[in-house]
Amino acid sequence: MEVEIISVGNELILGQIVNTNVAYLADQLRQLDLVAKWQTTVTDEPAQIEAAVKLACQRADLVLVCGGLGPTADDQTLPSVARALGVDLTLATKHWAAIQADFAHRQVAMTPENIRQAYYLAGGEPLANPVGLALGSWLVSEQAAVAVLPGPPREFKAMVQASLLPKLRAHYGTTTPVQTRVLHFVGQPESLLMDEIAAALGDLPVVATSYVQPAEIQVRLRVTGKTPAVAEQLLDQAQQAIVAKEGAYYFGSGPAVTLAGQVVALLRQRGAKITAAESLTGGLFQSTLCSVSGASAVFDGGFVTYAARAKHQLIGVRQATIEQAGVVSAQTAAEMAEGARRALAVDYGVAFTGVAGPEPLEGHPAGTVFVAIAQQGAAPRAWQLRLNSRLGRQAIRQQSVALVLLA
Ligand code: ATP
Ligand code: MG
Repeated sequence: MEVEIISVGNELILGQIVNTNVAYLADQLRQLDLVAKWQTTVTDEPAQIEAAVKLACQRADLVLVCGGLGPTADDQTLPSVARALGVDLTLATKHWAAIQADFAHRQVAMTPENIRQAYYLAGGEPLANPVGLALGSWLVSEQAAVAVLPGPPREFKAMVQASLLPKLRAHYGTTTPVQTRVLHFVGQPESLLMDEIAAALGDLPVVATSYVQPAEIQVRLRVTGKTPAVAEQLLDQAQQAIVAKEGAYYFGSGPAVTLAGQVVALLRQRGAKITAAESLTGGLFQSTLCSVSGASAVFDGGFVTYAARAKHQLIGVRQATIEQAGVVSAQTAAEMAEGARRALAVDYGVAFTGVAGPEPLEGHPAGTVFVAIAQQGAAPRAWQLRLNSRLGRQAIRQQSVALVLLA
């Protein structure tokens, strides 16, 4: 089973936009165990589109053409695909009526070209577009099964989900189901994490692959060729074995899980509130917290205390501490956390002070970060993070935030 994706667009060829559609589609196909080994990009030139489709139909069984379904003269994908396949175009009269009604409702004048978005490949069927005007097409011809999809990513994704994937599932229903699960980690180097995960998985027929982001590592577990129930059981088993070993760095599973989301949920459960005093992170911890909807239940506000003066005047870090221990010290972090917590009278205060770089500070290299967590009724806990100075300023700040969220 050979699959080819053809992306159409001058901007793709000229490097003005990144081809995110092909990445999205390839990832979705993988979950049906379909791999597009051929991925072609062509200009908007009709002759080139036609030639690309003809070639693709020779070497592939499934051909997916993306982009160039707009109403303007440079959008020539559909007629070019039709010529390559030797078929006509059919007007979807209901859809055409809906487009006309939509324009009338918005009181926008139509151009003669607008009707072009209501055509599909004759002998095939239209693919519905839940968020845009252009119809897609699906045609199973003698040469290959062909789908045509619009370029704007929002419309593209919507059509893939609503129309294309159901078609592919129906058409290739016999292919092996693939089950995947994403686990989230932070604080362990990727190579070490993946080594230990491989050891934890042992002989289980589960494949683990990693995807590194600035402040987390996502590990995707994948099972192929089993019934959904068996696959689910294998994934559970794999997850248990991995978490037993890497629990200290693990913070959840599923596509929507974020570290900040987990922390907000935990604090809500405890009915507790948190605040922060941030130096090198400049509010990033608080901003990350606020990116979670519902954060207001656990966060009233906090402090950005970048200079020593702010640390002293806003949250009462002692002058003596700053002078003797230094700004980049466990003692300063502890006083910041406790000072912030007390200023707002909440349950937890966290603090960040250190060197984001690139220049050293107080003799400490970039990546030296002290953090602290103060809890009501207990002595503040402060410790040092030793981050890779080559990470760069932003990643050092992001990792500092992630590591404290994990704690
Ligand atoms: P339109 O009605 O907007 O012209 P269309 O189906 O003709 O829709 P294109 O003209 O190919 O689509 O692309 C429209 C816009 O969508 C592009 O300018 C670009 O911003 C975006 N786009 C198109 N293809 C891709 C892609 N492969 N990856 C990311 N963005 C894309
Ligand atoms: Mg266009």
